[in-house]
Amino acid sequence: MSFVGQPIHALHEAIRNKKVSARELTNAFLKQIDAVEGKIHAFNTITSEEALKQADGVDAAIAKGNTIGPLAGIPIAIKDNLCTRGIATTCSSKILQGFIPPYDATVVSRLRDAGAIFLGKTNMDEFAMGSSTENSAFEKTRNPWDLSRIPGGSSGGSAAAVAASEAVMALGSDTGGSIRQPAGLCGIVGIKPTYGRVSRYGLIAYASSLDQIGPLTQDVTDAAIVMNVIGGHDPRDTTSANRPMPDFTQNLSNGIAGLRIGVPKEYFVGGLDTEVSSAITEAINTFEKLGAKPVEVSLPHSEYAIATYYIVATAEASSNLARFDGVRFGYRTEAASDLKEMYQKSRAEGFGPEVKRRIMLGTYVLSSGYYDAYYKKAQQVRTLIKNDFDSAFSEVDVVISPTSPTPAFKIGEKMSDPIQMYLSDIFTISANLAGIPAISIPCGFSGEGLPIGLQISAKPFDEETLLRVAFAFEEATDFHKRKPNLA
Ligand code: GLN
Repeated sequence: MSFVGQPIHALHEAIRNKKVSARELTNAFLKQIDAVEGKIHAFNTITSEEALKQADGVDAAIAKGNTIGPLAGIPIAIKDNLCTRGIATTCSSKILQGFIPPYDATVVSRLRDAGAIFLGKTNMDEFAMGSSTENSAFEKTRNPWDLSRIPGGSSGGSAAAVAASEAVMALGSDTGGSIRQPAGLCGIVGIKPTYGRVSRYGLIAYASSLDQIGPLTQDVTDAAIVMNVIGGHDPRDTTSANRPMPDFTQNLSNGIAGLRIGVPKEYFVGGLDTEVSSAITEAINTFEKLGAKPVEVSLPHSEYAIATYYIVATAEASSNLARFDGVRFGYRTEAASDLKEMYQKSRAEGFGPEVKRRIMLGTYVLSSGYYDAYYKKAQQVRTLIKNDFDSAFSEVDVVISPTSPTPAFKIGEKMSDPIQMYLSDIFTISANLAGIPAISIPCGFSGEGLPIGLQISAKPFDEETLLRVAFAFEEATDFHKRKPNLA
């Protein structure tokens, strides 16, 4: 049996029963990376040596008969905006050139403690700003289902790595859809947890009130396993919620009979790709067959979500990115005659065009005279969007939608038109503004063989219901079992 391409839960059994050692498994994944990475370009850094060292540690623990963690010996990848002790962390930006964090993000140290093997850091849109991974200062990551297409973004490297079986699982971050959209476009599972569920300590901030970290996995069970490891209170993140952490794997198979599935009427009007739309209709039928009841709900303010997001997110980004000044981190210009010029040139040379665009937008909406008209107004609309979800969730258990309005688009297709690029997040952004958990799972394929994602969202801190509904759907379908052909 080939171990490459198996989910965490299968590999955990194989490791525990000594069918494969952590070293053998790690080598098998390094070999797979060798074979396909030249086509996919999912990684910024590959840490083979570190991975094999970690694997030997796991094998030694198993030989001694020690109890092993839930991810012991599982080779995984980490988005390159999560700090990893001793391993370059770039945010796919030139401005972080040479930055080697002296500490691990909380999620990274939790993965370490659970025995995971780190294969490397994955490519992304620079500072997580984008929907295609084309804004990386480095490579363009390819969609494993069609190498001429984007993998989605900003966690495109993480999604492509998992879809191409270069890693069993990868961490991503999601500010407006960056876990769910690439998961959807690459035919895998991606969950954005409730704001506060997973510690953001050590995540290089983009928009702090929206950012959440989550896993990209091959199936829903794996998502639950990783949530168990990375979730839970962390005193190092003041926005981390001090709430009980259920075992997310416990109730996955409890079924969804009688559950109410909200279908927002605003989401199924004009502009939706016909293949996406019919995959979602099919999904609604599947839920009905499983005993759940579709209920029409209304999210009247969703039409303002993108505008609101691009004010709030850019405002926060302009402030968060002020720290990259050529003094403390990474890149510094060679050509400055005084301090002010050093700041200006380091930032001008270090940041790419999309990041600059966002810093300028954010600075503008926060400037005196415009603050009330833009930033304050956006915060007020954000509350209305949150209220829409609160009232929907008083009638239904989950809300569904497509993850993205279309399957993966071609590399280069939207690069000259930022607004078109922003519109690809139309269904994912509201969950970040409202702080609620949402997942993307595979729900079909287009005529051209491109994956289509179904988004499910739930009440704050109700990841359990979210995962249960996703699991029931997955059990009733086989989309998650298909793999791209990379031969
Ligand atoms: N595509 C959105 C943006 O560009 C969301 C990115 C994200 O979730 N990090 O901001």
